[in-house]
Amino acid sequence: MTDPGLLEKLILLRKKLHTIPEPSWKEYRTAETIQSFIAEHAVGCDIQELPGTGFMVTCKGLQDGAVTVIRCELDGVPVTESPHNPVRSENAGMSHACGHDGHMAVSAGLAVISGKHRPEKGTVALLFQPAEETGEGAAAVMAHPSFRALKPDYIFGFHNIPGAPAGTVIVRDNIFAFASRGIHITLTGSPAHAADPDAGKNPTAAALEITAALPLSATFPCRATVTYVRIGSPDMGRAPFDADIAITLRAPHGSDLDRYGESVTTMVSDTAAAAGLKVSISWSDIFPETINSQRCTEIVHQAAVLSELSIETPVEPFLWSEDFGYYTQKYRGALLGIGAGNIPPLHNEDYTFPDAVIAPALKLYLGIIRFIHNG
Ligand SMILES: [Zn+2]
Ligand SMILES: [Zn+2]
Repeated sequence: MTDPGLLEKLILLRKKLHTIPEPSWKEYRTAETIQSFIAEHAVGCDIQELPGTGFMVTCKGLQDGAVTVIRCELDGVPVTESPHNPVRSENAGMSHACGHDGHMAVSAGLAVISGKHRPEKGTVALLFQPAEETGEGAAAVMAHPSFRALKPDYIFGFHNIPGAPAGTVIVRDNIFAFASRGIHITLTGSPAHAADPDAGKNPTAAALEITAALPLSATFPCRATVTYVRIGSPDMGRAPFDADIAITLRAPHGSDLDRYGESVTTMVSDTAAAAGLKVSISWSDIFPETINSQRCTEIVHQAAVLSELSIETPVEPFLWSEDFGYYTQKYRGALLGIGAGNIPPLHNEDYTFPDAVIAPALKLYLGIIRFIHNG
């Protein structure tokens, strides 16, 4: 790193961001905090507004050349963090349990360095994307005229990976992360007094049958996780007459989920019909699979070698999903992991982004920039 005090500044920025986690699309203070950091420390970079709270910091080189986008996420997660965490969220019910505070600090550092040391050719664009957790931000950014006009040649993003050796670069060609989507089911029967439950239509047995039937047998590696079940209400005088179920479905490809989704909705509709219940089904949180291009995977390998970082290629893709997959449907790109060491998993109340990940992530990205823009 060129500025010896920069790492300390980035750690302070990360901690500040950690105290103000905000929900998807409402990352107002987060965006303000980063923009004022960039205004103070990053000279000569332009800031362009994007949908919602999103923005992009572009650093142009002296000559024409490739356009590289490096993306980070602005949003927090609706998880109440543990009171034992060293730096605490000030926003009740929200935390940076996915480590996006750390990802943003790395990108802010890249803005400072790329402003000072312009790429020799081409453009480096640091994309601060809103609403990753809901799967909505990437598609909105891609539809925006400023982003489309940039015509990216390459796009990269990283996620910290708890459980993987600290500072190790994790990347694989082709599918890096699974596709996923959420299914919401409402079963509606008819109410009855709790003293005479048979007079109504009670959805309890059907709701339990549906959750017990998952995952349905499939010839492809699909997964189903029931994330929410509600049957009736705490009213002691009334038998349940409605139920809500939420399930996340995952598979290597979105096309697998089309087929799997169909078999799940058929099973749900048949179960509801057999119980004489009305059913409504809707979908949300649709994430495509993230497919890394071979070229970008090679660039990450070269950058890891240049930066003297160790590299691992997972045999199987990650089961979680990322809206980065929308970018890789259109642009050559790679999502990569940086090992976060032996810490609690993502979205866990005890999780906190380890600041030791900032330096290797910065090194790797600087290697990528050097390889593409200063070669
Ligand atoms: Zn997350
Ligand atoms: Zn995340």
